[in-house]
Amino acid sequence: MSKSAVDVCVVGAGPAGLSAAYILCQSSVNTAVLELGGQVGGISRTVVWDGFRFDIGGHRFFTKDDEVDRFFRDLLGDEIIWVNRTSRIFYRNRYFDYPLKPANALFGMGIGTTARCLLDYGSLKVKNLFHHREIVSLEDWVSNEFGHELFKLFFKNYTEKVWGIDCSRICAEWAAQRIKGLSLRVAVKEALFPSRNGKVTTLIDKFMYPRLGIGRISERLAESVTALGGEVRLGSRVTAVNHEGSVVTSVEVEGPEGRYALPLKRLCSSMPLTELALAMRPEAPAEVATAARSLRYRDLITVNLMINRPRVTDDTWIYIHDPTITLGRIHEPRNWSAEMVPAGKTSLVVEYFCFQGGEIWNMDDQALIDLTIEDLDRRLGFLKKDDVIDAFVIRTAKAYPMYELGYEELLRKVVDYVGSFSNLETVGRYGTYKYNNMDHSIKTGMLAARNLLGETRQSVFDVNRAREYHEEKILPTGS
Ligand SMILES: Cc1cc2nc3c(=O)[nH]c(=O)nc-3n(C[C@H](O)[C@H](O)[C@H](O)COP(=O)(O)OP(=O)(O)OC[C@H]3O[C@@H](n4cnc5c(N)ncnc54)[C@H](O)[C@@H]3O)c2cc1C
Repeated sequence: MSKSAVDVCVVGAGPAGLSAAYILCQSSVNTAVLELGGQVGGISRTVVWDGFRFDIGGHRFFTKDDEVDRFFRDLLGDEIIWVNRTSRIFYRNRYFDYPLKPANALFGMGIGTTARCLLDYGSLKVKNLFHHREIVSLEDWVSNEFGHELFKLFFKNYTEKVWGIDCSRICAEWAAQRIKGLSLRVAVKEALFPSRNGKVTTLIDKFMYPRLGIGRISERLAESVTALGGEVRLGSRVTAVNHEGSVVTSVEVEGPEGRYALPLKRLCSSMPLTELALAMRPEAPAEVATAARSLRYRDLITVNLMINRPRVTDDTWIYIHDPTITLGRIHEPRNWSAEMVPAGKTSLVVEYFCFQGGEIWNMDDQALIDLTIEDLDRRLGFLKKDDVIDAFVIRTAKAYPMYELGYEELLRKVVDYVGSFSNLETVGRYGTYKYNNMDHSIKTGMLAARNLLGETRQSVFDVNRAREYHEEKILPTGS
């Protein structure tokens, strides 16, 4: 079966694909968005369950790009609220403020450990005056910035929980991009003598959030696409991409009406880059296919609990560094927006970083829920089993593109191959195999749309190239 041709087919109704579709529809381009899921939003969707609203892990909106900032504000208007960030780290059976405050860290770690960290940091700075170390891995980078003692205390456990591999196998590039460029010296100074003029306030955090959940970004975009005459087809999976030489001609789709081919003039894909390369017909050269199969992702499980209490934490996020507790991060949606829960009730979203097919991924849902409640009760003291009204589990494959040592060479082969098609743009976090946040994902959608309209020729891979993008972070947080 074949359907009538579209000018642009967009694969994926997450923020990237829908931003591209929105801009294309504003220019009256005949556009169809194909989304395999039953709702829009991709990884940044909001799932509604019995009056409770859950994001796939807490998603705050933050951008340094003025155009994306305006785009977000125009899109959501009075749905936007400002949220104060208060986060803590759980480690060694106690809580540490995040960002770290010296008094809290001193009493938490003990004077001996703190002194050892400061001495180690001081001697590192002196050694660095005489000796230039080669920085290859995340472990090298963090140890060189903060000292090896602090690396072991505050970076190693959590980072290895997020990534599932040793810090010596993670690229330094990821740390340089995601961990705050702020030095320990400035962090300590800011904590002891907070600046009054607001100039050095990068550790204090407020962020924008849609009051009905982060999924509202994609929902509003999809509404606009449809209002402008575009189509969003849910439950529609692209299974193959047909091409003649360097021109993509159609996609094969499995949808609610069965299988069909959709002829197209141009393709904009936010499906994982590796899957796109493997979906090409005729098939990609063997070398490209091998590279695509070798690039790995880290996967995610969220356990969502509905709780018969008005509130259980004061935090936006709690990071569980403790290696003896399997869960990685917790957020309480009502602390982001009161409208995420029914009156008088609260909820928790608990994140497990894992590999598809691994032990945690394969646990059945009830066992995961039981493990979560047990740890929240016995280890963290947030709730009792009887407080939990209901719970469900969401498994998200390919949540994090992995920056393992050696990945750049593999990625280059895939990017070069996909880039050889003249009427194809790839967008978003997975379409570019980049650790992109929503603002980057939206930006790639905007750029790709303009490229497809013939207005510009700018590579989407240039987005999120700047080092130290997240100036407000001093720890890797796994967004
Ligand atoms: C735990 C976690 C926390 C995060 N926190 C933050 C945060 O605080 N702030 C922030 O800015 N960002 C955050 N992010 C990043 C954010 O989720 C992503 O940047 C954003 O969702 C990426 O949008 P996208 O459109 O590129 O991809 P996605 O949201 O994944 O959308 C891609 C869509 O393509 C669809 N698709 C895939 N394959 C096919 C196919 N073959 N056919 C049809 N459809 C297909 C998928 O179903 C999906 O809907 C976080 C990510 C994670 C995992």
